[in-house]
Amino acid sequence: MLGAVTTQPDGPRDRRRVVLALGGAAAVLALAVVVVPLLRPPGPRPPFQLPVSCGERWRLGTYPGHDDYDVDLFPTEGDAWGRPVLASYAGTVTVAGINGSLGGRTPDNPKGPRGRGGGYWVKIDHGGRWETQYLHLLEPPLVRAGQRVARGEQLGRVGSTGNSGAPHLHYEQHRGREKVETWFDGSPSGITDDDTEYSVTVMSNNCPTGRP
Ligand SMILES: [Zn+2]
Repeated sequence: MLGAVTTQPDGPRDRRRVVLALGGAAAVLALAVVVVPLLRPPGPRPPFQLPVSCGERWRLGTYPGHDDYDVDLFPTEGDAWGRPVLASYAGTVTVAGINGSLGGRTPDNPKGPRGRGGGYWVKIDHGGRWETQYLHLLEPPLVRAGQRVARGEQLGRVGSTGNSGAPHLHYEQHRGREKVETWFDGSPSGITDDDTEYSVTVMSNNCPTGRP
């Protein structure tokens, strides 16, 4: 009589196969989570406001070698040092830290050593693949990564950390992976290419809700 064929399950090898299959599935899922949002077309432009206090007039400018669409903001009246920097629109803070190095330019030592890059900075994800950036802040940001912020919420104060000649706010709007022309209060700023030095003056309508 032929005995029943006994099969000895190959335990360790089976387990290895299961582990490999699970690992593969996890890798595909991770790739989908990272890549799929990048393939989604950007949503409509959020109604951004100037990143400074309601009713204040600021000069928005650029200069050769800045970068297309980059905006430097200087107040038309009073000192730039320490002025509140506000969120242009609601979103989630994705970066709140140091870009490059801080250098040593402070209100007490405005000609101190220049740093590198953006200094203290904040980046906000507004959803729909729209993002804003705020550079050269005076002190560590008042917000932290992962925090939800409302439009008009204070992110920090104007300073001159990083590669900055004088206290000002360097500001950018990004759609998907591109830097785009900044819009404020429903209108394009007009700050586009950086071939020449030019500026425009705009009044902030980043006002508390329910007020003019
Ligand atoms: Zn700048």
